[in-house]
Amino acid sequence: MAKPLFRLISLLENTASEITMSEISKSEKYDVIIIGAGAAGLMCAATAAFRGRKVLVLDHANKAAKKVLMSGGGRCNFTNLTVESENFICSNPHFCKSALNRYTQWDFITLVEKYQVEYYDKTSGQLFCTKSSRDIRDLLLAECQKSGARVQLKTAINKISVNADSTFTLQTIGNSYLCSSLVVATGGLSIPTMGASGFGYSIAQQFGHQLITTNAGLSPLTFNSKILNQFKALAGNSLIAEVSCEHNSFTGSILFTHKGLSGPAILQISSYWSKGKPLKINLLPDLDVLSWLQSNKQDRPDINLKTLLSTQFSQSISAFLVAQLNNVLFNGTSSESNIKLKQIEHKMINQIAGFLQNWVVYPDDLEGYRVAEVTTGGIATDEISSKTFESQRQRGLYFIGEVLDVTGQLGGFNFQWAWSSGHAAGEHV
Ligand SMILES: Cc1cc2nc3c(=O)[nH]c(=O)nc-3n(C[C@H](O)[C@H](O)[C@H](O)COP(=O)(O)OP(=O)(O)OC[C@H]3O[C@@H](n4cnc5c(N)ncnc54)[C@H](O)[C@@H]3O)c2cc1C
Repeated sequence: MAKPLFRLISLLENTASEITMSEISKSEKYDVIIIGAGAAGLMCAATAAFRGRKVLVLDHANKAAKKVLMSGGGRCNFTNLTVESENFICSNPHFCKSALNRYTQWDFITLVEKYQVEYYDKTSGQLFCTKSSRDIRDLLLAECQKSGARVQLKTAINKISVNADSTFTLQTIGNSYLCSSLVVATGGLSIPTMGASGFGYSIAQQFGHQLITTNAGLSPLTFNSKILNQFKALAGNSLIAEVSCEHNSFTGSILFTHKGLSGPAILQISSYWSKGKPLKINLLPDLDVLSWLQSNKQDRPDINLKTLLSTQFSQSISAFLVAQLNNVLFNGTSSESNIKLKQIEHKMINQIAGFLQNWVVYPDDLEGYRVAEVTTGGIATDEISSKTFESQRQRGLYFIGEVLDVTGQLGGFNFQWAWSSGHAAGEHV
C-alpha cells in the first residue's frame, strides 16, 4: 500500500455532509472542481470549460504545472509520434487504450502547432520543445484562460465531503467550495519538493478504492558499496547497451554514476525492476560479439584483449571490463589482463562473448522519489471507467493522470497519458 507522504490537516469524509444550507449558500459553486493544476488537471479544466462548464482548479503549489516546467531537461518531451498501450505499465493493460485512442498524440500536436510552439523529434519519435517547457505550460494556462476555467494556487484542501444531493463540498482555510463533479489530478509521489503528495491516494482510499503498491519509476539504480567500488572510476562514462529485466528490454545509453547506474536505458528498465531481480546488460547490442572475437583472433592474433576492447569502449570502460574478465574468467591473475588473443582458447572466447553480451548485475535499490520521474502503481483502475474516468464507487468523482495505476515509459508517454485521460474526463464532467 502507498504510504501517504503528507499529513492530512483534517479527516476526509465521504459521508453525508454536516454543512448547513446557509453555509452551502456561502460556498463558491462550480460545476467542476479539479484538484491539481498539473498536466492532466489543466487539460481536463480547459476541455470541460470549453463545453460551458464552470470550472475551478485548486492546487497547493505556488506555480501551476511545475513538472511540465522541469520536464525533458527544460524542453518538455510532450508526446511521442508512436503511442501504443504497450508503452504503459498498468495492472489492467487494456485500461489506457480508450482514452489514448480518443485524444491522440496528433490531437496534442495540433494544439501545440495552434500555439506555434516550435518542437523537434529528438530521437525515436520523442517530441521536445525547441525553446522551453514554458511553451507547454503557457499553452495549458492560455487554454484555461480562453475557456474560462479558473486556476487558484496556494490552496490546501482540508476536508472533502459528499452532500446529500451527491455534490461535493471542499473546505480550505477560510473558504468552502461546492461542485457536482470532483476531479482528482494530484499526480504521483516523485519529486516532493515540486508539490507531489499522496493526497489523491488518500481521497481514493476514503471512497473505498484499492491502491496498487507505489514505487519510484524511471529512477536511477543504486548499488551496494562492494559493487560500487568496482564502478567508482567509471562515474561519468556512458555507453549504448541493451538492458533486460525478465522479459523487458531497452536499448539506449547507460551512465555510470557515483551511486550506480543511470541513463535512459536504466531509467526505462527501473520501472520494471524490483529488489532482488538481476539486470542483464548486453554491452555490445549491435555486434555479433562471438564472430567479432573469433575473426579478430584469426586476423590479429597478437593484439591484446584490452586493445581490442578499446576499439568498442572508452579506455576506462575497457580497463574495467578487462578487470572484470580477469576476475570472472582468469581467476584474478593480473598477468592475464594483457593476454593476447592468440593465447585465448576457443572455449574462453565463448565465455568472453557471453560476458560482454550478458553482464549480470544486482542493483541494491531504486534511487527513489527524490529523483524519479514517475511513480509506478497508484489507484487501481478496475473501479474507474476507462471512458470517463469516473469512479464506480462514487458518482461525480473522477481520477486522471499519474495518480492512477498507469505509468508510461520514457519518451513523452507520461504527458500523453495526462493529456488523454484529462481530455476524456473533461468531456464528461
Ligand atoms: C524531472 C521530471 C521530468 C519529466 N519529464 C517528462 C517528459 O519529458 N515527458 C513526459 O512525458 N513525462 C515527464 N515526466 C513525468 C510527467 O511530469 C508526469 O507524468 C506528469 O506531470 C503527470 O501529470 P499529472 O497532471 O497527473 O500530475 P502532475 O503534473 O504531477 O500534477 C499534479 C498537481 O497536483 C498538485 N497537488 C499534489 N498534491 C496536492 C494537494 N494535496 N493539494 C492540491 N494540489 C496538489 C501538484 O502541486 C501538481 O501541480 C517528468 C517528471 C519529472 C519529475
